[in-house]
Amino acid sequence: MTKLKLHWQILIAMILAVIAGYASGMDASIGGVTFYSMYVFVGGLFLNALKMLIVPLITASIITGVAGIGTGDGFGRLGTKTVIYYFTTSLLAILTGLFFVNLIVPGVINGVPAGSLMGLEADVSGIVENAQGRSAGDFLTVFERMVPANIFRAAVDGQMLGIIVFSLIFAYYMVRIPDRYSSVMTDFWQAMMSIMLKITELVMKFAPIGVFALVAKVVASTGFTAIMPLANFAGTVFLSLLLHSVITLPLLLAIVGRVHPLRHYQAMFPALMMAFSTSSSAATLPVTLDSVEKRAGVSNRVSSFVLPLGATINMDGTALYECVAVIFIAQAYGIDLSMGLQFLIVTTALLTSVGVAGVPAASLVAIVVILSAAGLPAEGIGLILAVDRILDMCRTTVNVFSDSCGAVIIARSEGEDAVLNRDPDSAMNQ
Ligand code: ASP
Repeated sequence: MTKLKLHWQILIAMILAVIAGYASGMDASIGGVTFYSMYVFVGGLFLNALKMLIVPLITASIITGVAGIGTGDGFGRLGTKTVIYYFTTSLLAILTGLFFVNLIVPGVINGVPAGSLMGLEADVSGIVENAQGRSAGDFLTVFERMVPANIFRAAVDGQMLGIIVFSLIFAYYMVRIPDRYSSVMTDFWQAMMSIMLKITELVMKFAPIGVFALVAKVVASTGFTAIMPLANFAGTVFLSLLLHSVITLPLLLAIVGRVHPLRHYQAMFPALMMAFSTSSSAATLPVTLDSVEKRAGVSNRVSSFVLPLGATINMDGTALYECVAVIFIAQAYGIDLSMGLQFLIVTTALLTSVGVAGVPAASLVAIVVILSAAGLPAEGIGLILAVDRILDMCRTTVNVFSDSCGAVIIARSEGEDAVLNRDPDSAMNQ
């Protein structure tokens, strides 16, 4: 009997997890141990394994990739294309959200601002405190993080931006020193990369179990009842995210990249499901790299440049969510937003999405920052907490999908034709 492909295994695990999580809730137990605590334990273990890969894999991947660009002017060209792509798609995503939140007006139910219907029960002091003293100008701290005082501390703290920038510069010079030194280093990092890819394959073998636990945990703790009062808001976010990922990004793929969008969805299936179940672009990065290179056929040279940067600074789904959430909160409080204020929200959503970390619930702080910048009540964040996790799963999927589209579009613009000929399902480890 042929073995079921990994992505089908993950999909089945996800469906079973919804059933198991719903059936067990947080209280059902066996032998005194709740199922919920088992989900937390197994899911945590799997997340740890993914995170364990990040620093060595990303460093090796960037260094080998950039070294592959060689000594020509490819470095600056790739950088410029990457930044233009990220900026454009994030802006398009925000505008999509802006359109739908103004069209649907989810914050007003039957003519009454939803805030008064829902009440603010959630305790939001932690999030608000976290955001205190921050402003949209915090965007500048992104530049600070690019130059960490201690590269090892950056690695320990999971400050990916510092590691990425250091690795880019390191690799840039690695191929610009005398050959005999350069070749030793190149061999070393290539060996490192091969080893890390093998370890990634090993971790991926446990993906169905890990995904099962992570999804069951969310379903068990959130349930479906919490979502009902916020169905309008969740629906608006979902619709906007859907439009961005089934119309805008595929159009870019087809027109700019001249790549068949369906093929790309197929290639990215494992990474998208991983993003959905972990709610973390950073934790998904090893799988994104794997899918983009092996299943979509993008070279390591392009993917290692575009994807780690993307997982850290390009967040289409997050930017869109921030915009919809802030306007929803204003609507729910019965506050009318002028065009000027909406423009401020769009701009701050664009800037803050760059600084949001690729971890679960990271946008919440950014939303509080935008609320304060726009003079709106920060406690409004409490309105959306109940549905944040489920929407986090969706927006993270879009974040990862946009990064992967960027990798393909940029690869095509660099003349890579392998992208067109690769059969996703023939990839070695899937
Ligand atoms: N969870 C998101 C990500 O990792 C960030 C966020 O929007 O909270 O991409």
